[in-house]
Amino acid sequence: MKRGKLLVISGPSGCGKSTVIGKMRGGGENVEFSVSATTRRPRPGEREGVDYFFVSRERFEEMLRNDELLEHAEFVGNCYGTPKSQVCARLESGVSVILDMEVQGAAQVKQKLPEAVTVFLAPPGLEALERRLRGRGTESEETIRARLDTARREMALAPSYDYTVINDDPDRASRELGAILDK
Ligand code: 5GP
Repeated sequence: MKRGKLLVISGPSGCGKSTVIGKMRGGGENVEFSVSATTRRPRPGEREGVDYFFVSRERFEEMLRNDELLEHAEFVGNCYGTPKSQVCARLESGVSVILDMEVQGAAQVKQKLPEAVTVFLAPPGLEALERRLRGRGTESEETIRARLDTARREMALAPSYDYTVINDDPDRASRELGAILDK
């Protein structure tokens, strides 16, 4: 049985990752999306087990102790991690898996699973990013600033990824990601 592909998509918060990845959902048959665990509170409209597994810090620490996570990172005050159960068995059964994560997690995945294909999804510019973060209207000014500072640092890491895709248009960017997955 041919192993599935592991596609890791990173990019600054607010670069449109969820929109682009959302457009890929339902696109291909043999592709599934990994649902992460996070200690962040749900935003309005986010669903448990679909967008994230929303867990307490205690539960997150227990997952770490039990070695349940493939990678994990702290991002602007909250913990995020990929449950192994979302990835390993699927790859073995020939299903490809898409992971959406910040840059520290992507580096951990690439180190553990070098066959992973990493893609940096970049905003057309930092001004566009700031507009999108503010337009979302879900974060405080302090969180927006912290996310923009993190974005500046993350952008510098783009050259270490296998591919960089500019999200100037979500439909075009999702087609480009689809083509990378089909390679
Ligand atoms: P948000 O709070 O906006 O949903 O996500 C914040 C950041 O955490 C985003 O860059 C997102 O890609 C990243 N993220 C989501 N899930 C995971 C995960 O399982 N592991 C890591 N390392 N980052 C994640």
